[in-house]
Amino acid sequence: MSRHAGAARFAFNWGLSRVKAAVEQRAAEASYGVPEAERTPVPWTMPTLRREWNRAKGDVAPWWSECSKEAYSAGLDRLARGLKAFSDSRTGRRKGRRVGFPRFKKRGRARDGFRYTTGAYGPAGDRHVTLPRVGRVKVHEPMTALTARLADGRARLLGATVSRTAGCWYVSFTVEVERPVPAGPSRRQRRGDAVGVDLGVKHLAVLSTGEMVDNPKHLAASLRKLRRVSRAYARSKRGSAGRRQRAARLAKIHARVANQRRDGLHKLTTRLATSHDVIVIEDLNVAGMVRNRRLARAVSDTGMAEVRRQLTYKTTWYGSRLVVADRWYPSSRTCSACGWRNPSLTLSDRTFVCKDCGLSMDRDLNASYNLRALTGAGVAGYPDVPVTSNARGADRKTHLGGQVAVKREPGTATAGQTGTLAPRGTTAEQVSANAH
Ligand SMILES: [Zn+2]
Repeated sequence: MSRHAGAARFAFNWGLSRVKAAVEQRAAEASYGVPEAERTPVPWTMPTLRREWNRAKGDVAPWWSECSKEAYSAGLDRLARGLKAFSDSRTGRRKGRRVGFPRFKKRGRARDGFRYTTGAYGPAGDRHVTLPRVGRVKVHEPMTALTARLADGRARLLGATVSRTAGCWYVSFTVEVERPVPAGPSRRQRRGDAVGVDLGVKHLAVLSTGEMVDNPKHLAASLRKLRRVSRAYARSKRGSAGRRQRAARLAKIHARVANQRRDGLHKLTTRLATSHDVIVIEDLNVAGMVRNRRLARAVSDTGMAEVRRQLTYKTTWYGSRLVVADRWYPSSRTCSACGWRNPSLTLSDRTFVCKDCGLSMDRDLNASYNLRALTGAGVAGYPDVPVTSNARGADRKTHLGGQVAVKREPGTATAGQTGTLAPRGTTAEQVSANAH
């Protein structure tokens, strides 16, 4: 698997050097007055990159047949996407942060990975996966749910991504799953009514029902360990063997924290989506917040992006509805009883005290009340709260075969598409398994 990841990296770097050389060549030709149409073309897209690679691989990589050709394709595909993101960003076709020109991938620095889209890849029983040219690999977690669905035709494989995180190899399958989508909320969901959800640091979430959902049991211990190891890492000498060791340990703990948190979030979002008919959460400036330097905040912020992403597809699956409060709606600063707003509330104020009506309550609970109130006629003192929602009705969007990815790198999570699937639509989801 290492070798395949290396092959993908090699193809990426080779392609990038070709692109750079062609760009320079064109610039030189332009300075000699060669007309535009006669200048050297730049292999900017996947088909041109692939054509050039197939022509050159015998010379530049005589060992190419040792790895699956999918590995080289994955590297070139990543390059083509990077180039497209760069040019789209420059011409304004892509929103968000500016995307830089692709850079060479260094061994050990870049994330290792490659992808299969064709060939005989897939689960081999519940405990193994078959990866072309790699072989049969044992996996850590049983894939019973996936193999059962593949066996009776309820799911179809679209691709497999193999990647390495903190020394562990992961394979995630993109599958298309057929699942019936309910037309509306069930009786249980209607009984559960609307719920406001305030996501926090101390608790995983505070619900407007008064419930404080605790963080996963072992998360606090992992976070303490994370803090200790990251301090030790920061103190260690650059370039030393000890630093490399600590970096590996740090990455492992980071991965464990992320897993524990994701697990807790999945349990929470499934429960919310199945037992309430409307769920209200805050919108967050995700791109801005994940760059926050404070550890606890950073962890919870990525959690919020994840909650929104999960709720977006789970509400569709279970027939409930997700309402996302406007980014500027001050759910924490507003009194849930009278609408008075506290302009000087800080993050350390754990209790909300209203100077107008005298209300005094837990800060997060107050926020969750305000969020829940958004489903009604508005909130006292803030009647015209703009909300975006995936309401069935006026703004219904139908996504057939929309993809839902379960595993993503932190920082790249985008707020999910809002929309309602037509009954019996298909969604694609990723199933991850940890390979030994
Ligand atoms: Zn008040």
